[in-house]
Amino acid sequence: MNHGEDTIAAIATGAGAAGVGAVRISGPRAPAIARAMLGREPVPRHAHFAAFRDGDGELIDRGILLYFPGPASYTGEHVLELQGHGSAVLLDALLRRTIALGARLARPGEFTERAFLNGKLDLVQAEAVADVVAATSEAGARAALRSMEGVFSARVDELLGELIALRVHIEAAIDFPEEEIDFLADPVIGRNLAGLRANLDALLVETRRGVRLNDGIVVAIVGRPNAGKSSLLNALAGQERAIVTDIPGTTRDVLRESVSIDGATFELADTAGLRESDDVVEREGIRRARAQLERCDVALLVTDDEHANEDLAFFAGTPSHATRVVVINKIDLSASTAHREHRGGYETLWLSARTGEGLNQLRAMLRDLATAGAGEGAFSARRRHVVALESVRDYLDRTAGVLHDSHAGELAAEELRHAQQALGEITGTYSSDDLLGAIFSSFCIGK
Ligand code: GDP
Ligand code: ZN
Repeated sequence: MNHGEDTIAAIATGAGAAGVGAVRISGPRAPAIARAMLGREPVPRHAHFAAFRDGDGELIDRGILLYFPGPASYTGEHVLELQGHGSAVLLDALLRRTIALGARLARPGEFTERAFLNGKLDLVQAEAVADVVAATSEAGARAALRSMEGVFSARVDELLGELIALRVHIEAAIDFPEEEIDFLADPVIGRNLAGLRANLDALLVETRRGVRLNDGIVVAIVGRPNAGKSSLLNALAGQERAIVTDIPGTTRDVLRESVSIDGATFELADTAGLRESDDVVEREGIRRARAQLERCDVALLVTDDEHANEDLAFFAGTPSHATRVVVINKIDLSASTAHREHRGGYETLWLSARTGEGLNQLRAMLRDLATAGAGEGAFSARRRHVVALESVRDYLDRTAGVLHDSHAGELAAEELRHAQQALGEITGTYSSDDLLGAIFSSFCIGK
């Protein structure tokens, strides 16, 4: 890799007309480009008002020139920022001028990738940069900012420190093979392994919440055909998106709709009816509905007064880690009134998707579920972080198992080595080019 040997440039501000726009340059040629654009040596970290001119001396724009010598810059390299008017045409001309002066077009995320490779931020922080930019809710943006500031990374590093200490302790013990060692009887090992496992579980809970803050809460709407699932999704989304019909089994695929309720983002998934079927297409839909139920955060069981008991029995027998909520729909057809009650172990809401009666109570409840625990200190996270922590947990369990069954220090040390590697993948201590490529290519250009 020859990162940092060439100089990259990109328009760093959003597309479309705006008051201000900026071109960002990073790399060894940045000081020369700065001199060419300013006509003299730039003062570091000083706002120069400058006339940006093309090769013929023709004026492109007037604006602010900022020069940050490396390594005290975002990327760790020499960085130049040219701020002009937010016109796509002028910014393009400005970008072309920097290319003529020796820069090349940056790939998406390349500035942040260089910052990562130069040790300015770790991988979790780099991902959080993209998440801050893409955040669709205030709570999500705040959480992403905390991850960018290193709140999540610090937790991972803390765990890593404990893990390394334990590994060192066990490996030191292995070095005395003549002694018969009962590793689990060693109070340091037993206690530390249990403590590590507990801290990991706590971090997993917070990391899962971080993913919800980042991606929004996934709400699966389930229920028998014709219960009113699509109608409920439409009512919550406030538009006709899902197909509503009187023919049972119409919604065969899983429809998804992103909805914002009081600044919190929800992914509503309308699933096929959960009933046995001979129809191949419908069976596939039912399979997807069950899969949806396994990976959603909130499961809404839509039923009505007539079918409630039967549907609840089915609901209770379907596995899911999700928060389960029962919606008794079509109260406009029954004697029930809109209200909310804790019944049979579930939060239960009576409403009508058709008239909208009781819908606000459902909205309020979803909002409460979204913001639960999203206060002080909540950080954003991604699915890959959860997956990595889960594999760390598996390695720790295997470590305990091995020590318990065979007192085999070498095997335990090996499991801990894997655990350390999985943990290190989160912050990028260990990372493959494939992983880095996948992460940074999803950035927008100029970041
Ligand atoms: P799904 O199969 O569960 O998605 O059900 P749909 O949303 O397609 O609705 C099935 C039928 O029930 C349609 O004719 C809807 O208009 C009707 N429906 C849905 N919600 C209500 C409701 O609250 N009250 C009444 N009266 N009809 C409803
Ligand atoms: Zn439907």
